Amino acid sequence: MNLRDLENSWIKDFHQPLIIAGPCSAESEQQMLETAKRIKNTNAQVPIFRAGIWKPRTKPNGFEGVGVIGLNWLKKVKEEYGFKTATEVANAHHVDAALKADVDILWIGARSTVNPFTVQEIAEALKGTEKIVLVKNPVNPDLALWIGALERLLGQDIKNLGAIHRGFSTYQKTKYRNNPNWQIALDFKSQFPNIPILIDPSHICGNRTGLADITQEALNVGYQGAIIESHCNPDEAWSDASQQITPEVLGEMISNLKVRNSGL
Ligand code: PEP
Ligand code: MN
Repeated sequence: MNLRDLENSWIKDFHQPLIIAGPCSAESEQQMLETAKRIKNTNAQVPIFRAGIWKPRTKPNGFEGVGVIGLNWLKKVKEEYGFKTATEVANAHHVDAALKADVDILWIGARSTVNPFTVQEIAEALKGTEKIVLVKNPVNPDLALWIGALERLLGQDIKNLGAIHRGFSTYQKTKYRNNPNWQIALDFKSQFPNIPILIDPSHICGNRTGLADITQEALNVGYQGAIIESHCNPDEAWSDASQQITPEVLGEMISNLKVRNSGL
């Protein structure tokens, strides 16, 4: 089957825009449950809670994720607050552990999408899954790599696919942590109109102030939703502190989003 022929109906099961939110990293059970509770209390439509369990950090010797224990906390978030859960997987061990812990949505991170061996390993470990699998764009501005990763998943009979636009790294200093390079994502979108695409304003902006504008811009051109980092105490976050927002700020931001049906 060709990626272009894929009929992606999974997104229709969710309120639109689909918002996935939660901390960059799982840090403790208390941090996870408090963040989930406060997101729930905003009454915003956030059906999916995200948290990184294994963290791909740029440099060694920093916090590299809590590991499998975090999967128990995701399970608690699901049981206590009714969220579906999402985490990043970067190798076959992660996939096995996440499937065993019944994580609902898995995503492939930008540093994994660049590596065909890694993507192939993940795809084979997930073979035939009906879980939703989201693929972030590769860190480098290479549309073919992004598409190739999705093709590898489809090649293993994984059909509930989606894309996440998280921006592209650049050596130039710009106002963005990762340049949005909208044209690449729009080319993706026009080639594969049936594959849902979400914006990740957190990793594009790298700060708290640009999030709403980037998200609105994405919705204006027909993106179906966003994945946004939210933490109960952003200033103290163990990773990506400068871009995370409190659940209350998140709720306010979501309530100001306007869904437009302009398409491309
Ligand atoms: C993340 O979502 O926390 C993350 C590490 O993202 P990316 O792969 O986009 O850098
Ligand atoms: Mn992050």
